[in-house]
This record gives sequence, structure tokens and C-alpha cells, in this order.
Amino acid sequence: MSRSLEILNEIFGYPAFRGQQAEIVEHVADGGDSLVLMPTGGGKSLCYQIPSLVRREAGFGAGIVVSPLIALMQDQVAALTEVGVRAAYLNSTLSGAEAAATERALRNGEIDLLYVAPERLMTPRFLDLLDSLPVGLFAIDEAHCVSQWGHDFRPEYIQLSVLHERFPDVPRIALTATADAITRDEIVHRLALDDARIFVSSFDRPNIRYRIVEKDNARSQLLDFIRAEHTNKAGTTDAGVIYCLSRRKVEETADWLKGQGIRALPYHAGMEFEMRQKHQEMFQREEGIVMCATIAFGMGIDKPDVRFVAHLDLPKSVEGYYQETGRAGRDGLPANAWMAYGLGDVVQQRKMIDESEADDAHKRVQTGKLDALLGLCEVASCRRVRLLAYFGETSKPCGNCDTCLEPPASFDATREAQMALSCVYRAQKASGFRFGAGYLIDILRGTRSEKVLQRGHEKLSTFGVGSALSEPEWRAVFRQLVAFGYLAVDHDGFGALVLTDASKPVLKGEERVTLRKYVKPVRSRQTSARTGERADPTARMSPREKARWERLRAWRAETAKSDGVPAYVIFHDATLAEIARSDPDTVDDLRHIPGIGVRKLERFGNELLDVVGSD
Ligand code: ADP
Ligand code: ZN
Repeated sequence: MSRSLEILNEIFGYPAFRGQQAEIVEHVADGGDSLVLMPTGGGKSLCYQIPSLVRREAGFGAGIVVSPLIALMQDQVAALTEVGVRAAYLNSTLSGAEAAATERALRNGEIDLLYVAPERLMTPRFLDLLDSLPVGLFAIDEAHCVSQWGHDFRPEYIQLSVLHERFPDVPRIALTATADAITRDEIVHRLALDDARIFVSSFDRPNIRYRIVEKDNARSQLLDFIRAEHTNKAGTTDAGVIYCLSRRKVEETADWLKGQGIRALPYHAGMEFEMRQKHQEMFQREEGIVMCATIAFGMGIDKPDVRFVAHLDLPKSVEGYYQETGRAGRDGLPANAWMAYGLGDVVQQRKMIDESEADDAHKRVQTGKLDALLGLCEVASCRRVRLLAYFGETSKPCGNCDTCLEPPASFDATREAQMALSCVYRAQKASGFRFGAGYLIDILRGTRSEKVLQRGHEKLSTFGVGSALSEPEWRAVFRQLVAFGYLAVDHDGFGALVLTDASKPVLKGEERVTLRKYVKPVRSRQTSARTGERADPTARMSPREKARWERLRAWRAETAKSDGVPAYVIFHDATLAEIARSDPDTVDDLRHIPGIGVRKLERFGNELLDVVGSD
């Protein structure tokens, strides 16, 4: 057995490497440079932690980990300390005396892994210190921060190329979850990784179940979903994130959920810094918190047991959707990505692009990105296949997304499309005004509303021609017509609809239109019963196992509190679930459970047996 596998077993308590980990670990331990592209939750940390320990045993000094995220550093160090690895960090949160003590420990060879903020690493003083040490390796986490085009650009990251010049013999490993080719090339170029081996993992997250539902009453649909799939018998909710577009909606949604008995907290860039920090900390450390947030929330959150990510508004792109949903289920256990989506979202996003200050070229790019996302929303075949294809991966239908589990019906909607498009045309021609979908649907369905009568639109030839379809069915038709570009949103800012070049062939009968059939939203409870498995680690447990699980969780909460670390640093849900299921009698039984290494066995073994044995 290789030394790295032994370390994986003994220290981290895991039986086997995942995916490309083994290869990467060997390559780095042997002193090679590398660039690792792996999705969130793929297991990047072990790719530098284990080589660092292997090299340490071979006589090298500490591994130096560059990380831009202070909160993440603290938790990584806490987790390493719990398994008995000598880890520390240097960043702006330390006092001068604390930092000096850490540097001293580094010099004395008492540290195996040191996390540093890039600006700290780049100080001449610190580089001089490293000169005098046999550094084991450099790990550059979140390496996409060198990309000037990305959202997470950090100017200090550019300077990291110095490492190569100054320490040519020290292996470097750069890691990121950002997949696109442009970013990859930029990392290689800016960090001088031309000779590095590049490891590209699949970006699939098989444990995440993707679902996009038709928006009806989004809030109550959300509440149904949370209650049915993410609330246990005792009424505790799983940890989850709910993304909203605006700060106001974040606040309102959090308030409303609180009123429904859910521990929801708001997070957005308009809040005071302290409050924001506090909420983030609570989410990270406590259990059962649902964070309502704008996209300002998420970077640097490495909480492994986020069980769901919900979108109440449409993200701007597939990249955004993928990044946000990717925060669910890092621990590999079942998790849900749920989104409510409707006509209003399409209109709103189109309008936002139109009204933005950006130049035309930029608007075209944004429109292209939005169209790709709308394609994902409207797709009638496997969503995951579509999602991965966007990132250049081919795959087979997954069986773990809504379109696989309950394939939507399509229908030839040419006639309906023609009715809708000609209604847009006639209403505008008759009055000189343009109208939104709600009003047009009134005309199509023959509703004699005050406004319709005022304008004399009951005399239009399209009045009442579409009475066979319900209002929501028509909304679904309009939504898809806008999503696919048969209709556009007017520049007036009121969401009025206008014909496009693509409308003409449909109106002339030269092009047929196939649309997804509207499905009446079902209560989540019914859906999940039909599709079986919930995103809940206790889903298949017997009552006794569940009781053990609850006791173990209570024990973990207390232990975490007294150690001052997040619960998952003590044990992950997957480990607790396995203990509950296997009902161990001896410390030796515990040894084989994934996630229990030598150190934790020593420290917690007997306590765990007590907690388990008390039924
Ligand atoms: P990333 O940084 O790529 O998002 P992490 O390094 O945080 O991912 O790992 C995600 C989770 O997977 C962590 O909880 C980690 O303990 C777990 N993990 C990583 N590698 C393995 C493995 N070989 N066996 C079991 N669990 C693993
Ligand atoms: Zn699928």
C-alpha cells in the first residue's frame, strides 16, 4: 500500500481515493507541478494535504497553502487539527504576537500545513522566511482568482508567479472549480504552469437532483418543498440557501419564512458588515439555518451539509446556476437544486439586459447566456445532460433530475403559437399600443374585462379564440414563446410583448412549434412520494436507527460547541449516518466507518459507543 493511501485511511479515515485523487496525490508527492480542475465537493483539499504530509515525512518542510478566504482557512485548520495534523494559518485576523508565534513554529518545523492569505505570502519578509526553509509544496487554492475576467479577481494572485521564479524546486499545485477553457489558460499563463500536468475531472455532481418547476405561487411552492423534503419530524429544517434577485425580496422572503417557523436569515450586500458576518457565521456553524440571499452570498462557504439550494428568481446564466446550485451536497449525500420559474422571470431578465448601461456587444453576450439558461429551463430531455453539455461534457440521461423522473409531455403548439402571435399583432394594430401577456391572455380567452371593453378589443378576431386553454396554460405558452425568441420584450419597461423576425414563419404557417405541456404544480409531498428517495440521509433508516442518529447529532452539536468548531468538523452527516446504521459494539467496529481516523477514534470512540449503546 502506498504511503498516501495509508495516510488517507489512518488520518482522514477514508477507505479509498475518489476519482483522480490518487493520481494527483502521487504526482504532487513526487514533486510535479499540477493544475487541478474539479467541481465543488470533488475533494480538492486532500489533493494537496496528503502530498504535503507525505513530503513532510520525506524530510521536507511545511506545505504552504494560498487561500483568499479567511473563513475557509479557519475551518480547514480546525478540521485538520481535529484529525491530528499540525496546521495553522496566517492572515489579518491574527494579532502581531499570534502571527509571530506561528512564524516561529514554522521555523522550528512544528507545522505541517500553513494556510496564508496571498498578500501575507507576498511580503518580502515572509518570502525571506520561506527562503530559509525546505518548503514542501505550494498549493494555490481558488486559482481562478488570477483571472481578470472572472468575478473573483484578486490582484495579489497575479504576483504568485513569483513563487515559480524564487522557489523553482518546490512543486506547485493550483486548484479551481471554474471549468471554462479561458480561465484555465489564464491560470496556466499567469502562474507559469506551462509544464504542469493538468487534471480535469468530470463536472457532474451526481448527488444533486435538479428540478425546475413552473412558478405558480412561488413562496408557497417553496414552503411546500421545504416542509415536504427538508424538514424532519421534530420540525427542524435542513441547512439550505434560497437565492433571490433583489435585496428587498431577500428580506421579505426571510421574514415570511420566519413567520412560518423556519430559521431563515437574510444576507445581501446592502446589510451592515457585522450583521452579514454574523449571519454567515451562524449558517456555517449552526444547524438547520436557511439563508435567504442574493448572489453576494456563497463564495468561501464550504459547509458540506447544505441539503438544498432554491432559486426564487432566474439566475443570469448557466454558469451562475451551476455555481450556486453547486453549493448543495458537497458531502456527496443526496441534495436538491430547486427552482421556480415563470413568464415573469423571462420578461424581467430580458428587461434587465435591455435597460442595462452595457454596450451592444456586451448585451449580446448577456442575451446569449440567458438564452442558454432558458434552454435549460425549457428542455424536455435530461437536464443534467444539457447542463454538462454546456460545459463541453457528453453524458447519458441521469435518472436524477425532474425531466428524467417525470418526463414532460410536448405537444404540437403551432396553432396556439399562431393565436398568441396574431393576438400580439392585432391588439397593437388596433390600438397603437403594446400589451403584456396578462392582457393578451384575457383577449385570447374571451374575458370581458373592463380594460378589454374600454378598448373595444372584444371585437378583435382573436377575441375568445383560445378559450380552450386555461390562464396558466396560456402563460406557459407565452413563456416559451418569449424564451425561444418568437416574442420579444418591448423596450418600454412595462413588459409588453412584441413580434420578432422569428414570429413571421410561424404566422405564415411555414414553421411548426413544439412546446412543453403545462403541468399543474403538484404539492411537493406528492411529488417526492412518487419519485421515492428524499434528499435526506435518514430516508431509509429504521426508527431505531433514526433515534440513534438523532442522539448522535445532539452529541455532535455539544462537542462542536465545546471545541468551538462547526459541527461538520467533528463528523460529517455521512459518518454519523453510517454509525447509526451499523450500530457498533466495539471501538474496532468504528474503525471501519468512513470519516473516522486514528485520532478521532482515540478521542471519541468510547463516547460514540455510549451514545449509540443507550437504546
Ligand atoms: P472541494 O474543495 O473540491 O470543494 P473538499 O476538499 O472540501 O472539496 O471535499 C469535499 C468533501 O468530500 C469533504 O467533506 C471531504 O472530506 C470529502 N472527501 C474528499 N475526498 C474523499 C474521499 N477520498 N473519500 C471520502 N470523502 C472524501
Ligand atoms: Zn436527468
